[in-house]
Amino acid sequence: MKATLYYRGSLTSCNYDCPYCPFSKHRDSAQTLAKDRAQLQTFVHWVRLQAELGHRISVFFNPYGEGLTHSWYREAITELSRMDHVDKVAIQTNLSARLDWTDAVNPAKTAFWATFHPGQTKESVFVAQCMELRQRGISFSVGSVGVRSAFEALKSMRAALPDDVYMWINAFKDKRDYYTEEDIAYLRGIDPQFERNAADYASMGRECRTGQDVFYVQGPGLVKRCYKDRKVIGHLYRDGLEGLSKRRPCAMSCCDCYIGYIHMPELELERVYGGRILERIAGS
Ligand code: SF4
Ligand code: SF4
Repeated sequence: MKATLYYRGSLTSCNYDCPYCPFSKHRDSAQTLAKDRAQLQTFVHWVRLQAELGHRISVFFNPYGEGLTHSWYREAITELSRMDHVDKVAIQTNLSARLDWTDAVNPAKTAFWATFHPGQTKESVFVAQCMELRQRGISFSVGSVGVRSAFEALKSMRAALPDDVYMWINAFKDKRDYYTEEDIAYLRGIDPQFERNAADYASMGRECRTGQDVFYVQGPGLVKRCYKDRKVIGHLYRDGLEGLSKRRPCAMSCCDCYIGYIHMPELELERVYGGRILERIAGS
């Protein structure tokens, strides 16, 4: 089977202090960090064993907090990127950590989903990190949340990045009717795909690949189908991919997040993102 696994361990801490985030400047205890590390090592070991079963795997790390400031995430990405049966390993990151460790990764299989947080880092520092990734031959997308207070910073970031670096904007959805037509045009000028993200997709009963060949793995091995449906569908280490995989129509009323709606076949988003859909690089 060809499967995509989102992975989130016990980590809930970050070196940044974004005002809208519950993990900002939170420090995990040594015990929690040790648990996160052990869980991640178990996961990497399990992925390694999938070669014998003929599975091909892509992994996306979306930690609650920042992973790359911890050695075990860097080691996991390095190891996974070098496994023959792993097609891709990507991570959501604030891109604050040093990048010299990526000397050891397979750059062709490593990708970064880099989120820019205006107010937490200088544009020049963030862009320098992006340019280092580029020089290292590692694919990445850059993006941010489209809150009105960030509009200027987002435009400036777009101008500072090379044209061929895709920049996405996540629509701010906490307030209804937040955007005017003018705002939408402004954000479309930065991210041509912005309206795809601003939409909420009616999904109840619709086809979705999550739970079939896309899984959402929690640190201890519990598996849900996606970011939104809280139902546990099995256990990675007990059931394996074959045991977990089942065609499951969506049970949620709508799908409103990129990491979910890209798996709805009816949207045909491979046509927009090609082989770079996991790390969100449009036009590739
Ligand atoms: S960088 Fe991400 S995880 Fe860290 S505080 Fe900001 S939003 Fe939260
Ligand atoms: S909420 Fe989205 S990702 Fe989850 S099952 Fe429904 S369509 Fe799929």
